[in-house]
Amino acid sequence: MAVLEILKYPHRLLKRRSQEIEKIDENIRQLIQDMTETMYDANGVGLAACQVGVNKRIIVLDVSPMDPEQDLFALINPEIVSEEEEIDHEEGCLSVPDCQETIKRKQKVRVRGISPEGNEIELEAHGILAIALQHEVDHLNGVLILDRMSGLKREIYRNKLRKKKQKERES
Ligand SMILES: [Zn+2]
Repeated sequence: MAVLEILKYPHRLLKRRSQEIEKIDENIRQLIQDMTETMYDANGVGLAACQVGVNKRIIVLDVSPMDPEQDLFALINPEIVSEEEEIDHEEGCLSVPDCQETIKRKQKVRVRGISPEGNEIELEAHGILAIALQHEVDHLNGVLILDRMSGLKREIYRNKLRKKKQKERES
């Protein structure tokens, strides 16, 4: 297992749509293990493959720190098939440092995907698990929380980032 580097905004790979997986082989299962280790190392509750630079539709999630009833799992080619009830939720992202913003999400989602063992899975999620699933599926479509914020808030974040980089250059 290995801890991989997490790409940060504005890395261009975070803006690409990830590709469907057609065959689950040893490499995919290894990647899922590495993604899991990377997520735990960063104290995250979810991670998409594109965040470690792999353009494939894989997510890993473990929201048990916020919902003890949940457990670690990985989904391949996840797809949100239905969603209901809007909710405002404050969230951050391992690829968007120093940013906590209120994002419009859905309270409940139904998600379909494939397990690392190759089984078809359909699950109904609500609360934090539903939100984490939406966040990670967004990543697979090249969408970041910044894209779901108002233009003004996005601009404020970009300015903050620019100043931080400038400071780093000067020191
Ligand atoms: Zn994220």
